[in-house]
Amino acid sequence: MAGKKNSSLDKVLGRIDRLDMAGLQTLVQRLARERAMLDTVFNTLQEGVLVITADGEIDYANDAAARLIGFKEEMGAATTLWRLVPGLRASLEGEGKRGKRNESPLVTREFELTYPQPRVVRLYMVPFHEDDTGEPRFAIILADITTEKKSTEELIENEKISSVLLLAAGVAHELGNPLNSLTIHLQLIERKLKKLPGSKEAGSLADSIQICQGEVTRLDGIIRNFLEAIRPRPPDLSEVNIVDVIEDVLRFQATELEDRGLKVKGELPASIPVIMADTNQLKQVFFNLIKNAMEAMQSGGALGILVRADDDAVYVRISDTGSGIKTEDLSKLFSPYHTTKTGGHGLGLMIVQRIIRDHGGHVGIESKEGAGTVVTLQFPQKHRRVRMLKS
Ligand code: ADP
Ligand code: MG
Repeated sequence: MAGKKNSSLDKVLGRIDRLDMAGLQTLVQRLARERAMLDTVFNTLQEGVLVITADGEIDYANDAAARLIGFKEEMGAATTLWRLVPGLRASLEGEGKRGKRNESPLVTREFELTYPQPRVVRLYMVPFHEDDTGEPRFAIILADITTEKKSTEELIENEKISSVLLLAAGVAHELGNPLNSLTIHLQLIERKLKKLPGSKEAGSLADSIQICQGEVTRLDGIIRNFLEAIRPRPPDLSEVNIVDVIEDVLRFQATELEDRGLKVKGELPASIPVIMADTNQLKQVFFNLIKNAMEAMQSGGALGILVRADDDAVYVRISDTGSGIKTEDLSKLFSPYHTTKTGGHGLGLMIVQRIIRDHGGHVGIESKEGAGTVVTLQFPQKHRRVRMLKS
């Protein structure tokens, strides 16, 4: 139907030089109506639609496009697309140099917008010519793919984590057998030693054996804890007061905090809404985060722990006055085996992230090198738990 309408309009436009005053008036009215209709159609689109000149001047922007790039009518011609989306021009220019203008292919790009809102946008650009001026124009379609992108990234991340976990669990499990064998043989040696006539030598041997047994037990403990820590187990949920859990962990780490000469500044409200959580997993989260904070600080540093809530969520903010994190390391924090410590295993934050995700929450880390680090956790309140992410 639309095609028919257009072609009849085309016919009228074709003999525009022969129209009288009344005819012209009808035509203008008809064009205005047509335009209003197209405006409505374009503004109901979820995709952003833009028409720009080669200089990036915005000829037309529908509502969705204006929202995405933060364009307002009153901004005027000086506000080019290149200004609103820095970096886009450079990215598109490579395309323009290839081949002639009217042969330029359809360009597609994915880019991130930070203003007015952080979004990931896919762009399609089609060049076309205005008939009268001959100046090239470009039609641009913008699709907001933030959620699509995010879930793919999470999927990849989860895959990466599970494969590493599987590998690590396998290695840890394999260590069990030699450890068992060591235990048995140490016991044998011990027994045989007891039968030998007592001498100074035998006494010191017995001491060494005891040390060995102690170390084997310690190794065994490490491995058991490790397996416990990384086994992707769904959280065993119950109503939990997060402040109680934090206080528990702080009590457990009190000696180490004191030995390191660190202060604790807690803002733990007496009453806080409950969340649905696995207490043991939560303890592990706080243990890891506080441990990291301690390891980043020198004597005299301060560990801050703040808990607060709003209608939707419970928030925990763990801050330290430690070394901070290099900008280039920020993106690697949650990757397995990323560590900057001698003797670190680089699994702590990965485990934290996994547990928080399993609880339907979020982890954020901000840091300034030389000043300190802030880790923010967010847990949905009991009544806001919509869906659990599968680990
Ligand atoms: P590990 O503690 O074994 O190194 P994590 O996964 O716990 O492993 O931490 C990974 C890395 O992140 C650390 O090696 C460190 O470089 C950095 N990091 C984590 N928390 C902090 C913090 N509070 N301050 C400074 N750096 C941190
Ligand atoms: Mg750690």
